[in-house]
Amino acid sequence: MAETPFRPHGGRRHVVIIGAGFGGLTAAKKLKNADVDVTIIDKKNHHLFQPMLYQVATGMISAGEIAPSTRQILRDQDNAHFVNAEVTDISLADKTVSVELAGSSRVYAYDTLIVAAGAGQSYFGNDHFAQFAPGMKTLDDALEIRASIITAFEKAEITDDPAERERLLTFVIVGAGPTGVEITGQIAELAKRSFTDAYSNFAPASAKIYLLDGAPQVLPPFGKRLGRKAQRTLEKLGVDVRLNAMVTDVNAESVSYKDMKSDTEHTIEANVKIWSAGVAASPLGKMVAEQAGVEVDRAGRVSVNEDLTVGTHEDVYIIGDMINLNRLPGVAQVAMQGGEHVAKLIEAKLDEESTADEKKPFDYFDKGSMATVSRFNAVVKMGKTEFSGFMAWVAWLGLHITYLVGFHNRVATAFNWITNTFSQERPHLEFTQQMRVGRNAIETLEELEAPADAEEK
Ligand SMILES: Cc1cc2nc3c(=O)[nH]c(=O)nc-3n(C[C@H](O)[C@H](O)[C@H](O)COP(=O)(O)OP(=O)(O)OC[C@H]3O[C@@H](n4cnc5c(N)ncnc54)[C@H](O)[C@@H]3O)c2cc1C
Repeated sequence: MAETPFRPHGGRRHVVIIGAGFGGLTAAKKLKNADVDVTIIDKKNHHLFQPMLYQVATGMISAGEIAPSTRQILRDQDNAHFVNAEVTDISLADKTVSVELAGSSRVYAYDTLIVAAGAGQSYFGNDHFAQFAPGMKTLDDALEIRASIITAFEKAEITDDPAERERLLTFVIVGAGPTGVEITGQIAELAKRSFTDAYSNFAPASAKIYLLDGAPQVLPPFGKRLGRKAQRTLEKLGVDVRLNAMVTDVNAESVSYKDMKSDTEHTIEANVKIWSAGVAASPLGKMVAEQAGVEVDRAGRVSVNEDLTVGTHEDVYIIGDMINLNRLPGVAQVAMQGGEHVAKLIEAKLDEESTADEKKPFDYFDKGSMATVSRFNAVVKMGKTEFSGFMAWVAWLGLHITYLVGFHNRVATAFNWITNTFSQERPHLEFTQQMRVGRNAIETLEELEAPADAEEK
């Protein structure tokens, strides 16, 4: 017998939100005083502040500081209920969402659906690169990168072979957008500053760090001038920036790329590889788009209506990194403002006397972008205003502390930053074997289990 879809008692309108990231969590909070029941579903039990993942990866801050428990964030919101499970199916016809968690499952009925499942890493059809070059989208990714960076230095300490040491201490970061630039700058800081005098058999500053990108400039969204400044800052730190470099292969030993200008192939023997080159919207986007009869672009983003609804489904919204609308970028502000926008429309639809436009187009206000390049150095672009260097770095710190969720996390992060600014110390260089090998081990296990599952069926 088919399971009866769950809905909260009380008969209020049931708003189901998929994803407790920037967009979904904002929408849930904005609905706090609305006469609705909100069920927010996320496969992770925490809200992740992705802009600071690179600091977790390089031991500056702990994972918990950027990943507060979603259940705790919503503890005081009476009309919100958190479900920690993965959404496996959405039916627009039945108005249901199916979830699974470690073998348990449930189906939820919705009156209004907000899909805010974000985006993952894209390897542009070369998913096999992922085995050797993790992306930087989740805590697992950041912790794996931390483990592999530190393991590289530790292995370099116990080898007597100079060629092997050079390979161990070669880091290649693919993708010179904000994420790539930030993690590159921090690996350089680790090698040139934090690890000074920490090893006996080699100089950590001898590490080679490459930043590759197929585009002709660093940080394309920031424009040429700031891109050049960021590149120079990285180069001063000893980073070898290679642009117009289209990566053609990544394996255990090396990264190969084609220089698009000279049309020549190159290979860099490298131990640690990090991929920050592309994004793909959650596959839930395609699932909804197919049912709604709308298109997805090459990155899997859904063509939504101006009010963020989908096709003719006036009670289904998509927000954040999953949308393809007016060339809006995949940034936190688009997701948060989208969450706020749909919460207002939902409230307007509830209130029969309201004169508010229930189909008001989403009007994004661009507050600007910023990225850190190294200690004391960042770039900021706000409309026509551009600046870089120390003041930009201070602005970056201030803004990111403000947006971090939770008082404890703000204080702990600020303390770690102060410590790191005035000393070489990195308080979170610990790692476990699970962090180092977990992702690939799980994937291998799943591959081994897959044929057995198929036979059972
Ligand atoms: C390393 C990094 C650095 C960044 N730096 C910046 C920056 O400096 N400034 C900036 O503005 N933006 C930055 N961004 C982009 C920004 O983080 C995103 O634009 C923003 O997170 C998008 O919000 P969202 O709500 O669409 O998705 P997310 O915040 O990614 O949230 C999506 C949520 O959906 C959940 N989910 C996905 N699939 C399912 C499923 N099937 N079932 C249940 N739950 C699911 C996920 O677990 C996640 O919690 C950065 C991104 C990364 C990865």
